Amino acid sequence: MRKSEALALTALPRGSGCSLCGAPVRFSHTEYLGRGETLAVLRCSHCGAQFRGALRESAAADAETRRPSRRARERSLPDGGAPDNPVIDSATAEALRERFGGF
Ligand SMILES: [Zn+2]
Repeated sequence: MRKSEALALTALPRGSGCSLCGAPVRFSHTEYLGRGETLAVLRCSHCGAQFRGALRESAAADAETRRPSRRARERSLPDGGAPDNPVIDSATAEALRERFGGF
């Protein structure tokens, strides 16, 4: 499908069915329009008519929305505080205590 064909498709309101037969439409594929613009193409599950879905102006912005937010990745510390650092073995820990005067 060419860009002009994709843009010529009828845009469906979000959540509505096929404007020809009323059957549910499903996501068909993503059409790349260039310069980071993508267009979701929807296809009717009954008659096969194609419609325009959401136009995304930037692939980068799309990736941004899919990436979990920084806040969501933060984990609260378990009860009792931070766990022991498993990377530092006891000998290294002892050497650090000696070097920094113990704590
Ligand atoms: Zn249809």
